[in-house]
This record gives sequence, C-alpha cells and structure tokens, in this order.
Amino acid sequence: MQTAIPSKTSTHSDLSTQTYIDLETAYGANNYHPLDVIISEAKGVWVWDTNGNKYLDCLSAYSALNQGHCHPKILQALLHQAQKVTLTSRAFRNDQLGQFHKKLSQISGLSKALPMNSGAEAVETAIKAIRKWAYQVKGVAAHQAEIIVCTNNFGGRTISIISFSTEEQYQDGFGPFTPGFKVIPYGDASALEAAITPNTAAFFLEPIQGEGGIILPPDGFLKQAEQICRQNNVLLVFDEIQTGLGRTGKMFAFEHEGVKPDGITIGKALSGGFYPISAFLSTDEVMGVFNPGDHGSTFGGNPLAAAIGLAALDVILEEELPERAAELGEYMISQLQSIQSPYIQEVRGRGLLIGIELTVNAGGARQFCKALMKKGILAKETRENIIRLAPPLVITKSEVDWVLEQIEQVLA
Ligand SMILES: *Cc1c(COP(=O)(O)O)cnc(C)c1O
Repeated sequence: MQTAIPSKTSTHSDLSTQTYIDLETAYGANNYHPLDVIISEAKGVWVWDTNGNKYLDCLSAYSALNQGHCHPKILQALLHQAQKVTLTSRAFRNDQLGQFHKKLSQISGLSKALPMNSGAEAVETAIKAIRKWAYQVKGVAAHQAEIIVCTNNFGGRTISIISFSTEEQYQDGFGPFTPGFKVIPYGDASALEAAITPNTAAFFLEPIQGEGGIILPPDGFLKQAEQICRQNNVLLVFDEIQTGLGRTGKMFAFEHEGVKPDGITIGKALSGGFYPISAFLSTDEVMGVFNPGDHGSTFGGNPLAAAIGLAALDVILEEELPERAAELGEYMISQLQSIQSPYIQEVRGRGLLIGIELTVNAGGARQFCKALMKKGILAKETRENIIRLAPPLVITKSEVDWVLEQIEQVLA
C-alpha cells in the first residue's frame, strides 16, 4: 500500500534533506525536536516529503487535522473568502462572523462564542471570563479568585498558562508566575471537594489529557466533578482543544458522560489545519461579564477565519467524523491491545486519540517513532514513554489495518 500511490510532487526539490535541516537550525530557535522528515505536500491522511516518500500522518498536528490535510471543501471556503475580504478587525462587523457564532452554539449547546486564534489564547480568554464572573456574579473579593486545575495539565505556553503547569520544564527559567491557581490530582473527586473555598471560581480541566500522555480520568469523574461544582457555585470549564471536534468519538469528550459544562475552549481542528482559529464558548451568564474594551484580538473573529471555521465544522458534521472516530477508534484500540510485545505496558484511549505506553525498559518512545517513520508512519512520542496515535478522522478501515500491521512489526 505504501508504494502503490506515486509521489504527488512532479519535480522533487533540489535541496537535500540535510540542507533544509541546516537552514531551520541555523536561523531558528531550538524549541522543538522534530523528526527529520521534510514535508512538502499533503492530502487526506497522507503526507509526502521532499524526496517523494509517502507517510500516513498519525499525529494530525496534535489533532488539528481531524478533517484530513487540505480538505477540498475547506480549501474552497478559504479561496472564496480570501478573494472577498480577509480582515476587518472587530472595529467593524463582517458578514461571516454571525453564522460562525451560530454554528458554534449549535454544536456545543453553549449560547455564546468569543473567537480567538491560538489555543492558548482561548485558554487565556477562559481564565479572564472565569475571574470576572467570580468578582461580578459570585461576589468574590477583588484579586482573590481561585481556579482549580489538575496535575499533568496542558493548556498552552503563555506565562499564565504555564503558571499552573506541573511540568518542570515548561516553567523552568520563565518565572515569576501568575498566582490564583490550585492544583489537584487529575481524576480525584474528593481532592476537588477539599480544594474548593468560597473564593473558588472554576474547575478547569481537559476531559482527557492529550499532551499528558492520553490519560483518561476514572469513569464517572466528569459527572462527579459537575455535581461538586454545581453544589458549590463553581464553574466547570473544559479544555476541549485537543479532545473536541470529533476526536474522541463524540463532538466533545464531555458528552461521553452527559455533562453540561459552563464553558469550553476549542481550537486545533476548528480550521481543519488551514489557519489558527480558537474560541471560548460559554453561557450568557459567564460571557455576559465582557463589555466593549474588556478583551479582544486583532485577528480574532476575522471573516476569513469565520468562513474557514464554518466549512471545517460542516465537514465534521457532514462526514460524520465523530461517529467514524468512535467506530474506528474502538477497533484500533482493541487490535493494538491484542499485539503481543515485550515493549507495550498499556494501550489506552477513546475514539482516535490513542496512547501506547511503553515499558520503562523499552528505551523511550522516540526510537519507535523513528522506526515507524521508516515504515511510512508519522507518529510522535508524548512524554518519554508514550506513542500517541491520532490519525485524521477521515482514515479508512483498510488504512487503519495497514497502520496496525506496521506497528505490530515495529513493536513485536
Ligand atoms: C494544543 C493545546 C492547547 C494549546 O493550543 P495552541 O494552539 O498550541 O496554543 C491548549 N490545550 C490543549 C488541551 C491542547 O492540546
């Protein structure tokens, strides 16, 4: 299968792989440790490198490509809108934003949207909304609002977000940090109850921790958290930036437990990989704390982003991507769990967000990712010992079977 389809590139690049690497390294910051594949084209689940080699993308840009690379319908929306008007700023209105807001409300059940660009900005927006709600609605004394978060969280890389990270490296050298966050163990309902004070504004968490290693909380935890939050007048806000928009087999991961959050952050697949688009979605009550001038973004809610976002959401709905993720994910997880390998500690996940945790003696996940790359699969380690598998949700059953074969060969 891997060699069946020839390269899309008619003329291969004349620069060597090493030249691209040297260029990136010489003039770029050293804040990533990429696999040395130079991608120059992509379509659906496949990417091609500058040498014409083809790979199945099992990372999907950390779930930003749920719709697959270069989806034609989203591309059309981009091209069409880019010829009309791309940026108005929110100083003026545009003819795309209202429809986008409405669609976000329809898919989430939350009445109001505040669009931003990167995921981290959506999280920052959530934090600001939560705090202002605490002061204006709950009546917390000025500067006393607390937000409860979990160990092993990931919310992005701004100073305030890393202030509540429990990863040493994410904080190392970047202090001083933003106060107002309390950390409890992920999945621990009694710790949540014990951590709440009259100053607690919100419990903010990922329904499944993606960067943290595909960690699922105990069954029923989200529902318990909802009850505890309701009893204490504390907002429940989910970071669905990685888990949302179909990835885990539902539109949003909180739906697996029938929870109704007060707010969610989304990003990543909100554009199908074409453009940075994120949003904080919430209720009238919480979003109502924002008045003109309180918060904003030059590019947030621009007409190009809104048109792309609308098309990206339509693709998720029309192609029933959550349902595909549920079906193929269940199959893939059970097949992976049946692989006999001395290196596999545990296979876990939900939908097509899957982690293969390796044993401590396996020597780290990165070498296995390199071996997978040689077999035509792009996957990336998360933490030391976990291979994350998160292919585009448009993947077919036979492509899943091919991926499984390669993984079995590498891990056997
Ligand atoms: C990726 C991610 C973010 C940050 O998104 P960026 O677009 O990289 O800023 C926040 N939360 C979660 C759960 C994520 O996976």
